[in-house]
Amino acid sequence: MKYIGAHVSVAGGPQNGPLNANKIGAKAFAMFTKSQRQWTAKPLKEKDIAEFKQYCEEFGYTADHILPHDGYLINLGNPDPEKREKSLNSFIDEMKRCHQLGLKLMNFHPGSHLKKISEDECIDLIAECINKAIAEVPEVIAVIENTAGQGTNLGYKFEHLAAIIDKIEDKSRVGVCLDTCHTFAAGYDMRTPETFEATFDEFERVVGFKYLRGMHINDSKSEFASRVDRHHSIGQGNLGIDFFKMLMADERFDNIPLCLETIDSDLWEEEIKLLYSFCK
Ligand SMILES: [Zn+2]
Ligand SMILES: [Zn+2]
Repeated sequence: MKYIGAHVSVAGGPQNGPLNANKIGAKAFAMFTKSQRQWTAKPLKEKDIAEFKQYCEEFGYTADHILPHDGYLINLGNPDPEKREKSLNSFIDEMKRCHQLGLKLMNFHPGSHLKKISEDECIDLIAECINKAIAEVPEVIAVIENTAGQGTNLGYKFEHLAAIIDKIEDKSRVGVCLDTCHTFAAGYDMRTPETFEATFDEFERVVGFKYLRGMHINDSKSEFASRVDRHHSIGQGNLGIDFFKMLMADERFDNIPLCLETIDSDLWEEEIKLLYSFCK
């Protein structure tokens, strides 16, 4: 079964995540656990945590289908040791917040080399940080998102994801999230049955579906292989509606959170309905 939702607002507190998700007919959702543009945040309030858990239970959301996302400032691959330490501390704090909320996944972008070190060196730094965070916080799975490869961001090749996973000591604590727009913009075509099969065969061979813990469901305003990260509403971008039909009919994407990050949140309810209409 498919668990389709969107990255919902938690303005006013985390308890608004399940409330907002339920309003649009979502069976899964993504959220931030603090402001995504700040390094630190006030600790979560006991009352808010309790309400979050209560609403999740009431509306049937389990930790398997909630995909919290970390803040935008964090770069675990930062070549500068001080800045990397700051990122790691913020990352650990975010993992702790997820754990407090009873969540078990945390989605993040791997990091950027900022043209100061090689991709391989950057991958080593990212893996080192993930190992430290995993040792510090129990249970939460570090879910690495693939990127479009804009700027100096790593994670645009399946090989990058595999190389990071390879260096993680406890493999049960690491997973990946594929963003459909990023995958396409990074140069993996999925628009025809042939290219769809080829891309996901390659994913299985290089990374493995067993690591797939969630997806971001976006059409792409950017061109194929442009390495530009611009999302679009479902069916309005360069990926096109046939891709989403194939995705929704494919059982390999069952039982994981499939979260829209499309550009017009007014369309989310409709987009969720549309995607469910493509499910077998
Ligand atoms: Zn994404
Ligand atoms: Zn994106």
